Amino acid sequence: MLIAKVVLPIRLHQIFDYIVPDVLVKTIGIGQRVQVPFGRRQAIGIVVELCHNSQFASDKLKSIHLLLDEQPLYSAKLWQFLKRAADYYHYPLGEVLFHALPILLRQGRPATLAETWVWQLTQKGTIFDYRNLTRSHKQQALLKLMQSGGKIDNSDFSPTIFKALQAKKLIEKVAVLPVRHHWHMDIVAQQPAFQLNAQQLNAIASIEQHLTQFAVYLLEGVTGSGKTEVYLQSIQSVICKGQQVLVLVPEIGLTPQTIKRFKQRFNVPMVVLHSAMSEKARLAAWLQCRCGDIAIVIGTRSALFTPFRDLGMIIVDEEHDTSFKQQEGWRYHARDLAILRAKIENIPIVLGSATPSLETLNNAESKRYHHLLLTERAGEAELAKQTILDIKGLVLAAGLSQPLIAKINQHLANDNQVMLFLNRRGFAPLLICHDCGWIAECPRCDKPFTYHQNQNKLICHYCDTPRAIPDQCPKCGSTHLVPIGFGTEQLEKQLNILFPGIPVSRIDRDSISKKGCLDHYLQAIHQGGRHILVGTQILAKGHHFPDVTLVGIVDVDGALFSSDFRATERFAQIYTQVSGRAGRENKTGEVILQTYHPEHPLLNILLHEGYPAFAKQTLVERKNTFLPPFSYQVLIHAADRNNQYAPQLLQKVAMWLNDHYPDPDLWLLGPNQANQAKKAGYFRWQLLLQHSQRSKLQILLNELVLMIEQLPEAKNTRWSIDVDPIEG
Ligand code: ADP
Ligand code: ZN
Ligand code: ZN
Repeated sequence: MLIAKVVLPIRLHQIFDYIVPDVLVKTIGIGQRVQVPFGRRQAIGIVVELCHNSQFASDKLKSIHLLLDEQPLYSAKLWQFLKRAADYYHYPLGEVLFHALPILLRQGRPATLAETWVWQLTQKGTIFDYRNLTRSHKQQALLKLMQSGGKIDNSDFSPTIFKALQAKKLIEKVAVLPVRHHWHMDIVAQQPAFQLNAQQLNAIASIEQHLTQFAVYLLEGVTGSGKTEVYLQSIQSVICKGQQVLVLVPEIGLTPQTIKRFKQRFNVPMVVLHSAMSEKARLAAWLQCRCGDIAIVIGTRSALFTPFRDLGMIIVDEEHDTSFKQQEGWRYHARDLAILRAKIENIPIVLGSATPSLETLNNAESKRYHHLLLTERAGEAELAKQTILDIKGLVLAAGLSQPLIAKINQHLANDNQVMLFLNRRGFAPLLICHDCGWIAECPRCDKPFTYHQNQNKLICHYCDTPRAIPDQCPKCGSTHLVPIGFGTEQLEKQLNILFPGIPVSRIDRDSISKKGCLDHYLQAIHQGGRHILVGTQILAKGHHFPDVTLVGIVDVDGALFSSDFRATERFAQIYTQVSGRAGRENKTGEVILQTYHPEHPLLNILLHEGYPAFAKQTLVERKNTFLPPFSYQVLIHAADRNNQYAPQLLQKVAMWLNDHYPDPDLWLLGPNQANQAKKAGYFRWQLLLQHSQRSKLQILLNELVLMIEQLPEAKNTRWSIDVDPIEG
């Protein structure tokens, strides 16, 4: 009797045995989907193993109901990759295998390209004189157009016109399969008008040395140093061999400008995977990549799971960006997994950034990665002049000091643009009762609500819950409620008052939440002329603003005094990225940073010596304090609604570890309340594990995860394992 071991998309490390009915024995295989009875319902699962014995008696086993695929959905290499990825993050294989599929495949749709329906002339229609259709001009026009072989724009003709011609047997609907693209036969690359500089040529030459084997490159170059040009040249070498390329970009990095540049360069089929895509389009892209019809895939972290017929290179742009790490469910890091995938596919991978993560820099330093540097700005643009502005004792208007306001005036007077960076959206981070000090707090998170004046609401920035603004203080009845502090909304209002007649664009999550809004703002800015941009860190991501000559960092002190050891790294990255926006394209720029702590060593090293010096020093500190990347961490999260089971579960985990893995190199910290102790009604706890050897942690986790799944508390808590956490 043949037994299929099947995984289901559930959060358990369990594999289920099913009997393979005789009719399926010849066609069933690993990596194919099956429909199976599961509890009282039918579920879709994936076959992970076929064998002849089960630990259960055969009369206890159920049979597979349906086989959904005749071929495996995953190539051998993709399969190996996903299994290793599930192992590394100790996440159930079923969830991982399903995660890698488009939703329609998870739901059981066939894995074949859907045919599309098109209208075509019947024999009668080809010879029929369209002038005889005297009753309808539209019908005449459509038939004439089709007879002349012209392109039909569906928006010109309503479906009833088509139906009318169909009723007259002049046209008919036929199914066509999508055409296969043989794109590699005639690639045309539109070469740039400029000469590549020596560093770019050197970077390209190094990458081309290892096009047929695994190699990791760190391409480190300041904003505007020509990294994208290096990607494009390397991509060209790969697609000219007929191989495909995957380009991963951060969540908000999908700028129309970058995509346009890729599309202008090559005449090959390209697909951009983004969150607004329809499920049908996503499935089509998945299938087309798998059969090799798409040459270049650009997408955010989940694009990593795209199947390819022949992948030749992976590029991770802005590799330091934290949006590559998924923060819930399966907490994988797309950059790290991209490296694993490149290794299994035996191909090169290029990690690009102006501000590489300390992990990546450390790997480059220890020669595990090839380090390619672009130190000069391409073309003639010069680096901006940077100044620290001490605001102690100064009068501030929505955070702006008089000297900064004067600078803004000066730059605007020269017809230039100004960008102000403030990483806090909304009007004010607090609404407080002037008479008794009551603070409006989200009851689900115990954190202050942010006051959003434009929407006339309070919004919790931790759980997104909106609230009406109270008329009165619930504690003392006073109607004197005042906003304290300032966010981007208030800054925008203040700028409108200070600089009447100057257009101000605010770019943050609130203002660009509607589709197309960001493009609209970017267009206005790119028209040039005097303009002020206000924004959060979205501004730091890959947008080019050639007319911006002044960047003002309104408030940095929050980042400098955080309890998270990674906060300074994040700040240094954002600062460098934002200040890199100033003065591109032959306009020398200026950066002004307002702070109460002008003597702060981090600010000084960043401003006077730059990000590489900052990174070097921070790596020394991390080494001395034994923090990542010089040790490895795993965070076990647990959350519940009554604040009991979660700490109990973690307490048991800590005790179990002390009993089973008495290792002086294993450090346990906690159980502690998470930094954000309560979120959306859940009390959050965590236990940190740290070890000098990654492999030791991996071994103990194998056992630990199975142990936790058996704990009674596990049923009443939301728990998860976070390997290589980046927060907390
Ligand atoms: P990055 O990706 O590092 O920000 P880009 O590749 O986007 O840099 O280059 C910045 C700008 O400089 C682009 O407009 C690009 O076309 C241009 N550029 C790139 N390389 C050169 C070069 N060697 N000479 C002149 N201009 C260049
Ligand atoms: Zn009050
Ligand atoms: Zn909340």
